Amino acid sequence: MKVIVASFQCESNSKAKTHPQKYDFEYFRGEDIFKKLVVKDIFEKNGIEVVPAVYAAALPSGTVELPVYNYYHDQILETVRENADADGIFIYFHGSMEVEEIGSGELYMLKNIRKIVSGHCLIALTLDAHANITDELGDFAQIICGYKTVPHTDQAESQMRAARALCRCLKEGLRPHTYTQRVPMLLKNDTLLTKYEPLKGLIEETLHLESRGDILAANLFLGHCWIDAPNTSASTVVCALDGETAEKTAKRLANELWATRRDYKFLIEAEEPAECVKRAVEGRENRIFITDSGDNTTAGAEGESLEILRLLLAKDPQKPACVAGITSRETVEKFGDAPVGSEVFCDLLGRTARVKAHGEILGWTKEIIGRSLTLSFGNVDAIFTEKRSAFIEKGNFDKANADLLGYRIVVVKLGYLFEELKPFADRELFALSDGASCVELKKLGLKRILRPMYPLEDFEWKA
Ligand SMILES: [Zn+2]
Repeated sequence: MKVIVASFQCESNSKAKTHPQKYDFEYFRGEDIFKKLVVKDIFEKNGIEVVPAVYAAALPSGTVELPVYNYYHDQILETVRENADADGIFIYFHGSMEVEEIGSGELYMLKNIRKIVSGHCLIALTLDAHANITDELGDFAQIICGYKTVPHTDQAESQMRAARALCRCLKEGLRPHTYTQRVPMLLKNDTLLTKYEPLKGLIEETLHLESRGDILAANLFLGHCWIDAPNTSASTVVCALDGETAEKTAKRLANELWATRRDYKFLIEAEEPAECVKRAVEGRENRIFITDSGDNTTAGAEGESLEILRLLLAKDPQKPACVAGITSRETVEKFGDAPVGSEVFCDLLGRTARVKAHGEILGWTKEIIGRSLTLSFGNVDAIFTEKRSAFIEKGNFDKANADLLGYRIVVVKLGYLFEELKPFADRELFALSDGASCVELKKLGLKRILRPMYPLEDFEWKA
């Protein structure tokens, strides 16, 4: 037996300006894809031949332009065409890739794959918990396993679950039925954490269902509110040995998820940016973090907003503060050779600053992707980066030659703080700022989504 393995991932954000280019994708072909995917051993231990295709993954960005999409799509299709007799296909997608002119990049690829492989070929997918599910997805994939954690920590486990289910089906000659149930709710991504109720209990229920034997996968997908597309919403997806069980279970989970729609709250102080800055400046804690959630680079935003930096400068805090990092290639290039300690005029802010440090920025996989420049405006430092970056752990500050421990107020362009930064935060303020990753659904101006949609409308609904 033979299984094709591939991965193509990019979470899209309709409001983000930067469309990912070919070089933005981490890309492997052939055997090298198993540097990134953990399923090879599972198939081989089951005596199944593995045919590697492509691994391509980019950071959350704007929608994917067609030529970039096709570059990877065509390579995967080529491997499928050369191995059209495959018994199974395993693909690790994000699930919220929006491609210009074609919509869901995942659905489009699955449709094209199905035109090539024979009807008996089983397709297994691993998806992010923030996937926007299209109703048709179940027509093309027999096994769908989504992450069960937010923040995500079970990417490897989710791949393995899908691979094991695929092996079982191939060996036992099973063909599961997938039922997808859209749930017309769309919640602030940052309020949905699986460590806490009500999601904790719902996830436990899916695990229990999966232990029964007749259900291969039971999933809750929370949806991705930053794509303005018809498939944007929460959903449930169940893959079972018979169609009736899949449908009944997906509907039951959908009704349970819908019933929790009013129960998602911020777990920390969430306020308008000016209030966050006021609280940080007045706060007595040793170190206070503010997350600029509307300009969250890990959600596809540009990281260019100066709003919180300006608010901080206006407050002239007495304690050392830092905004990390602001995307501005011009600033980094202009002062790239300016000696540390020299005085420069920062056009962006219209003020004089002192060059504090030159440094480097890290990409998603911790490789160096460019330069940083720290400018001091009195007690407030701003770390400018020549490319979009995310300060998710102390290592990012170290690379930029910034002393994280020396700051009392730290602004980062994230939603909730990553776990790696939490030990450094005595208090965390979530700024409800504007931008491509704004969490206020009403401010997003979504036009193409399904309506009615909670919380934009409040209404009765049952699956
Ligand atoms: Zn996600």
